[in-house]
Amino acid sequence: MAEAPNPKLAAANEALKKRMATAILVEKQVFAGGRLGRFVLKPDQGERWWYHAGQFTTLGLDTPTGFTPRAYSIASSPLDLGTLEFYIALVEGGALTPTIFAQEPGATFRYLSPKGKFTLTQAAKRVLVMVATGTGLAPFISQLRTLWKLHLAGVPNRYRVILFHGVAHGDEFGYAQELEQYAAVSELGLTYIRSCSRPDPTKGWHPGIAKGRVNEVIRHILGQPIPEGRSVAMPAGIDRDLILREMIPSETAFLICGNPGMIEDLKAPIHAIGVDTHLVEEFWKV
Ligand SMILES: Cc1cc2nc3c(=O)[nH]c(=O)nc-3n(C[C@H](O)[C@H](O)[C@H](O)COP(=O)(O)OP(=O)(O)OC[C@H]3O[C@@H](n4cnc5c(N)ncnc54)[C@H](O)[C@@H]3O)c2cc1C
Repeated sequence: MAEAPNPKLAAANEALKKRMATAILVEKQVFAGGRLGRFVLKPDQGERWWYHAGQFTTLGLDTPTGFTPRAYSIASSPLDLGTLEFYIALVEGGALTPTIFAQEPGATFRYLSPKGKFTLTQAAKRVLVMVATGTGLAPFISQLRTLWKLHLAGVPNRYRVILFHGVAHGDEFGYAQELEQYAAVSELGLTYIRSCSRPDPTKGWHPGIAKGRVNEVIRHILGQPIPEGRSVAMPAGIDRDLILREMIPSETAFLICGNPGMIEDLKAPIHAIGVDTHLVEEFWKV
């Protein structure tokens, strides 16, 4: 179990709780053996809030060690009026996530107003290379849902998006069906590339999924070195040279979210190909 916070932090958390709005859990879907979950909340204040796709909020719950707040990227689109969706990984022994995963529909969560600069407006480029590990996919789901809804409304899409999602095992690709649906619509300009660092056919890996850590798959595409003794393989049907040619440096922004080690490892290769715009959202500090 997580350690109790020091008294000063515990008091600050209780003070924060009083400033937070309330939302009801209306949908919960847990998969990958209980390690990953989609949580949909309905704010009690109704639709009187707004955010930009890619922003995060702070969620909080009473846990065995006191009220505990943590940051979570919003996976729903701001155009999905009325609910906020989150994609969360269970951290064994974590202070908050075991309590989040124990909640059932009807439970009350606390949340703060959304904020953050991990947005398409900040990226401000035509070619968007989105890179996620695990639940780092959440802000990209919000952004792609928004582009999808704009497309359905007849707004011409001005982006070319290459989305990389890296996980350990093949059963951890949340939102895969939805993303495949978007990738199949050419006007949306989306290429969806998945990779498994532990490619095991008995756990959902198949040749349509790259082999290797997502940062090393990207290094391979960019023609940058990968650590000795490690190997990667592209997914069937994805042409590495074609992908690289699309990343015209002056027109490309990298948006990278999740594991801080992956984020750090990609900085040098991105700069090596001459891309100077990259936004990062680190889920924790090393
Ligand atoms: C801006 C921002 C947005 C975030 N958005 C999300 C999100 O959309 N989904 C999400 O699952 N998490 C997200 N996080 C991480 C989240 O805030 C918590 O750190 C995480 O849920 C663990 O909380 P905990 O109290 O259970 O663990 P803690 O007791 O706080 O333990 C934290 C430790 O757990 C590990 N850890 C943290 N996050 C993860 C993770 N996602 N996967 C694996 N290990 C992890 C790290 O080693 C970290 O040091 C985000 C963090 C930030 C800063």
